Amino acid sequence: MSNDKIIYDITPFTHLDYPGKLAAIVWFAGCNMRCIYCYNSDIVFAKEGSYTPEELYAFLRKREGLLDGVVLSGGEPTLRDIEPICSTIKKMGFSVKLDTNGLRPDRIKYLIKEELIDYIALDFKAKNEKFGYITGSSLFQNFMETLDFLITESFDFEVRTTVHADLLEPEDINEMIQELAKRGYKGNYYLQKFVPTQANIGNIDSPVQHFDTTLLSETIPVIWR
Ligand code: SF4
Repeated sequence: MSNDKIIYDITPFTHLDYPGKLAAIVWFAGCNMRCIYCYNSDIVFAKEGSYTPEELYAFLRKREGLLDGVVLSGGEPTLRDIEPICSTIKKMGFSVKLDTNGLRPDRIKYLIKEELIDYIALDFKAKNEKFGYITGSSLFQNFMETLDFLITESFDFEVRTTVHADLLEPEDINEMIQELAKRGYKGNYYLQKFVPTQANIGNIDSPVQHFDTTLLSETIPVIWR
């Protein structure tokens, strides 16, 4: 079992990040994207964090009976050896949610096949034409492979997008809605507004453009958070 300090931080308690559950959040160091709007640059660029998996387990043992679930977030958790972590957490009785950008479909397929995670929040960063610019990644097809797999498996998951009006306009979101509908996504589509922090990777500020929500398609349910 690894002793590496792969965990950047632990949020002891949240009732907002795991639908219907009280949960802790585990923030894994490192990411395979460089999203312009990302305000977790400390986590993204970190080579290592502050806690080992064993320290996480010690923390969770004290939370047994108090928490229902654990959210694996980051950074990008699938860059790390999270299979034994998921397995240990589940044996302790917690449900596991994975926050992921979907770039590693093989890892996600394995985690689901081995029943190591219970729920996924999948970030749909942008349509193909804007994906590289917004994320710094050329692996849009990897994201699509993850999306298609989750839909085909009827896995319990949600899709979400961060909206910065200068980066994604209503017609972009409508194209993404049509893509989701075409591929058979039946859940809610969660949109979250960009939050200016003066500390994001792309050094961008509040959008200049107005995002007109009345222009959004109603093909699938859209929920703002
Ligand atoms: S917003 Fe982008 S760069 Fe930041 S942690 Fe998430 S996937 Fe990585």
